[in-house]
Amino acid sequence: MDPAARPTRESPVRSPYRGRLAPSPTGLLHLGHARTFWTAYQRARSAQGTLILRNEDLDRDRARPEFVAAFIEDLHWFGIQWDEGPDLGGPHAPYDQSRRIPAYRDAFERLRRSGHLFPCTCSRRDIQSALAAPHAADEEPVYPGTCRSRDPATIPAGTRVSWRFRVPDGLPVSFLDQGAGPQCFTAGADFGDFILWRHDDLPSYQLACVVDDAAMGITEVVRGADLLVSTARQLLIYQALGLTPPAFHHCPLVTDAAGVRLAKRHDALSLRSLRESGRSPDELRGT
Ligand code: GLU
Repeated sequence: MDPAARPTRESPVRSPYRGRLAPSPTGLLHLGHARTFWTAYQRARSAQGTLILRNEDLDRDRARPEFVAAFIEDLHWFGIQWDEGPDLGGPHAPYDQSRRIPAYRDAFERLRRSGHLFPCTCSRRDIQSALAAPHAADEEPVYPGTCRSRDPATIPAGTRVSWRFRVPDGLPVSFLDQGAGPQCFTAGADFGDFILWRHDDLPSYQLACVVDDAAMGITEVVRGADLLVSTARQLLIYQALGLTPPAFHHCPLVTDAAGVRLAKRHDALSLRSLRESGRSPDELRGT
């Protein structure tokens, strides 16, 4: 081994593993986030890799700086450390998505030029009402295709449009999840043409996530199992952009006593409240 590369206590040699924590500052972190982030931290540590913190603050209406300060404090309290982030800087700065818009726009333009997108004038309500069956809580309904084959020239000038990714109907998208095992979702059935660029001129979560995970050299994405279907969408974006996807590890969701998935509205299970009521990180990790 090259003596210069020998690990020392001060500067351990890092493996190529790069993981990330990607909270959205739209509320306080709850126990479900903390358990997933703990897994992400443990996996990065056991691989002697690098962990980055990314502030997913694209939602201008709901993101608040005080929640960024809160997640940094709460993650530290929980015992999680990272190597790059909005508070530490690093080679892939900025780590706030609101400051990375040009990179998303560039990817959007590439996808548009390569024919993967179509403009859509449907409102959320139009999409809902065009469907017969009700859908599960958070997953967006499969897009009924209203604007898919419409000639863009028929859209009146000045109309605000969203841009959707045209999914190859019937294509199985499979991947081996490191946590949840083999997965397969069918484009056009399990998910439909999805929004890639929003009518308020912002990227969707799906696009921003892929662009950042690729640009930041992430080798494994650790996140909650509610994002399994989004992973299938994101794999199509990776392919369309000619990028190599990372590995994925989806963690089981934490539910409340009634079996309902935790959300930011479960204030009593926010890390803040649990900490204030005297619970320790050790007992909350639940491992
Ligand atoms: N900001 C997203 C969330 O909090 C992250 C999703 C992901 O890890 O890809 O749900």
